[in-house]
Amino acid sequence: MLGIGSLMRSLFSKVLISSWLFLILLIVSAVVAFLISLVLKEDLHILLFMVYLVFALYFSFFISYSLAIGVTEELKLLQEKTKKINAGEFTRNGVLSSIIEINQLSESIDAMSARLKLQFIDLNFEKEKFNLVLQNLKEGVFAIDGEKRILFQNNTIPESLIPKNSQSRSIESVIENKKFLNFLIQTIEKDQDGNIGIESKKKYYNISLYNLKPDDGSSIYIGMILDKTQERERQIFREQFFQNASHELKTPITSIKGYAETLNTRFNYPEESNEKKFLAAILRNTDRMIRIVEDMLTISRLESTNVVFQPEKFKLFDLIENLKLTIEGFIKIKKQKLTVIVPENLVIEADLLLIEHALLNLVQNASVYSPENSEIQLKASLVDDFLHLAVVDQGIGLEESDVERIFERFFRVDATRSRKEGGTGLGLSIVKHITKLHKGEITVDSKLGKGSTFTMKLPIDRN
Ligand code: ADP
Repeated sequence: MLGIGSLMRSLFSKVLISSWLFLILLIVSAVVAFLISLVLKEDLHILLFMVYLVFALYFSFFISYSLAIGVTEELKLLQEKTKKINAGEFTRNGVLSSIIEINQLSESIDAMSARLKLQFIDLNFEKEKFNLVLQNLKEGVFAIDGEKRILFQNNTIPESLIPKNSQSRSIESVIENKKFLNFLIQTIEKDQDGNIGIESKKKYYNISLYNLKPDDGSSIYIGMILDKTQERERQIFREQFFQNASHELKTPITSIKGYAETLNTRFNYPEESNEKKFLAAILRNTDRMIRIVEDMLTISRLESTNVVFQPEKFKLFDLIENLKLTIEGFIKIKKQKLTVIVPENLVIEADLLLIEHALLNLVQNASVYSPENSEIQLKASLVDDFLHLAVVDQGIGLEESDVERIFERFFRVDATRSRKEGGTGLGLSIVKHITKLHKGEITVDSKLGKGSTFTMKLPIDRN
């Protein structure tokens, strides 16, 4: 060190002082050497010059070395300080150098470190808040990266789906529920969003997975687990009630109809008599009740898990030809025209009886809710990987608010009209169930007073 001690100077003045000091030393030693040379013998002058040179070289080296060491040592202190900040140690070290520039740099670093500390505290606080909210959500939330490792899981996630403390572990090593694991793997491999219902330990969960696709090109999947056990139990209860009620009603209604028919034929009441009118009313209403019970039984069958769903390959055109015979009976009464636009050689794989049932319901509705002499179209076409089966009518149409509700059981826009036409309010429910069994969807496009188009969109396997 130069021995400038605690005196603070700028780097510029330090270098200047050192250079001056060096120069003064050179001059003083030159003067001393000159004075010595006056008293020294001439042949020793060379030696004196050599001593002077060594002395000058030594001082030159000493001064530049001290200067370099001084600056480097103090820069090293700065380096230590930044290393500590990097490691998250935001302490203020105060003045540590005799060089003004280094001190100023140190103070700037201190100010920066103080600001960073505050931002760090803020960030941590926000993170804690966010974590607290996520941990205490009613819904289970988890995150998975593109390598199928669990990044995050909140406390609500049931142990039976993702065990606690599974962070940083691969989903294959922690998730035991095969259905859940396969769903995650397939959705991640397809790079898509997905949704699935899963049963585990007598509970029923609805699980969704969303692909976040951050800007850096990586993949993060956020999963939501909703406990739907109560809804599921209520739905099962409703389905069982529906199933039991339809079964229990079928026998007494059939026997009432039998007795009414027997009375009608055995007593041969005169046409205009009250007895005849009452019996006709009983028969009309029991017929209606039988239709309702049959529709209820159909829905129960479609809903039950062991439903007899029997897909087979058949020519759609042949099915429509058969259907036309049944349809002709009722569309003739209203003098309506049925136009069929179906490719003749189109072979599909589906449950023939169920598709026939659904189309019959749709065409029957098209006829009931359309005026006389109108046209009904039955069209089939292939759109991408879907078969579109559409029934188009020029009937009364539907209000937008009713479109969402018409697939509900017993919902009718005009209950009196539906009843008068012999409707049960269950026809479209049945169509929706049949479409769902074929993994398809049904859409409605309707304008009040202009007509409606009901389209069953069924996925087809082109292989
Ligand atoms: P319904 O036996 O009463 O016809 P559906 O379930 O088949 O029962 O239909 C439910 C309701 O949807 C009907 O009552 C009717 O109001 C409406 N609807 C169904 N099809 C049509 C259609 N093609 N045009 C207009 N309204 C329709």
